Amino acid sequence: MSGWARAASGSAPALLLRDVRVVDGTGAPALAADVLVRGDRIEHIGRIAASAARGARIVEGGGRVLAPGFIDLHVHGDPTTQSYASHLAMGATTVVLGQDGASPAAGDGTAGGIRAWFEALERALPDINVATTSGHGSLRRQAGIDDGTRVPSAAQQARMAALLEADLAAGSFGMSTGLEYVPGLYASPAEIAPLGQILARHDAVAMSHLRSEDEDKVDAAIREHVEASRPARTHVSHLKVVHGKGAGRAERTLAELQRMRESGIPLTADAYPYLASYTGIGILFPEWALPPTDYAQVLANRRDELRAWVEQRLLRRGGPDALLFGTGQHAGRTLAQVAQADGRPWPEVLLALGPRGGQAAHFVMDKELQARILVDPHVAIASDGSPRGRHPRGHGTFAAWIEDFVVNERRVSLEEAVRKATGLPARILGLKDRGTLRAGAIADLVLFDPARVRARADYVDPFALAEGFDLVLLNGQPAYQDGEPTGVRGRLVRHRAAGA
Ligand SMILES: [Zn+2]
Repeated sequence: MSGWARAASGSAPALLLRDVRVVDGTGAPALAADVLVRGDRIEHIGRIAASAARGARIVEGGGRVLAPGFIDLHVHGDPTTQSYASHLAMGATTVVLGQDGASPAAGDGTAGGIRAWFEALERALPDINVATTSGHGSLRRQAGIDDGTRVPSAAQQARMAALLEADLAAGSFGMSTGLEYVPGLYASPAEIAPLGQILARHDAVAMSHLRSEDEDKVDAAIREHVEASRPARTHVSHLKVVHGKGAGRAERTLAELQRMRESGIPLTADAYPYLASYTGIGILFPEWALPPTDYAQVLANRRDELRAWVEQRLLRRGGPDALLFGTGQHAGRTLAQVAQADGRPWPEVLLALGPRGGQAAHFVMDKELQARILVDPHVAIASDGSPRGRHPRGHGTFAAWIEDFVVNERRVSLEEAVRKATGLPARILGLKDRGTLRAGAIADLVLFDPARVRARADYVDPFALAEGFDLVLLNGQPAYQDGEPTGVRGRLVRHRAAGA
């Protein structure tokens, strides 16, 4: 920290960002200003005389944009063991884990829940700010409910409720469900509803990977999520309409969300600017072939039926060219390529791999439909990515959002684009002191020239770092600079209602 000096009027080190365009995360027009950071907070925004900032380290903005660091609402991976420098490189300063029904890694199957994981996190010193929700599937397992159970006992239900209460008291921001995955797919709305009541009492958010994202089922799945979560604030993760087409189809779903909001339901969503999802190939298999059912038995007894089911399912999702393996022996090849190389029909390749046969990118989204979702004012930008996931969203989301939607295609103003990655996700979480650039807020900041932002990751090289975010401040300290992480550590971010 040799470059740091003590400023005249305070004891904490100060940093003056001179001549920047402040885009504050509220959607307000950009404002030419200087910004003084002292310690971990923004102290002043305006014209700052050199005498007032004597001793401060000075960064010449040169008219570049200064915005709040991006808050990524839907993130995977494990910050106790992995670096999130790939997130810093795309301007993100806070990641929210605990998605799709799964609490963060160490919380799964332990009695300590989120509280124990927080302790592990604080020992590990993550290189980004980390928040979490609690996973409903994890709570279910911690409560001793077998995955295949459809109706938990009253005692099990009470245990789940108590575990969620404890997590929320420790600082979890809410609960995520993963209703398309084991074990969430076995859970009924009646099981989730009492948990929604608890979330509402804690002013915590109910997030969901919906029971289905398919064109003919997604609207019913949203209604199910809203009904089960009531009266909690409700949020739809990675909103998409699988195999739907056109902006008009997006507008039907968005209009339905708007009607619900007008009836008093606080309802938001997030999305990422890519046309492929990324998940296990288990999503192509019927419920009767998934754990805890024994897959070998399914193959032995219902092979033809399964083959027809899987073939039908993938044809509706674009066929074998629309599936790109991300893990295992076939990584980097499409199902069509694998089938051709092996000389076997593609349904046979899938049957041989089985529902636990790895992760893949699924090209199931339509460009104009997704673009319409992404520009909706109630949809935040979130990556659904992780440091090691083989999908470019993990390293490119916020860069692609600026590069494609603001600069190249001009679908959204810079101010609105920033709001959807900062102020909006902060409001969805209930984060008070991050997400907007104002005096008194924590100084999570990103300095960039929108015209130079590049999302370099693609499906061939999903780990290429984003470029153009010149300086990223984490809690007032430079954490990413000149294309390199500086080694500064992030913080555990707890829900403000937490007693801890
Ligand atoms: Zn998901």
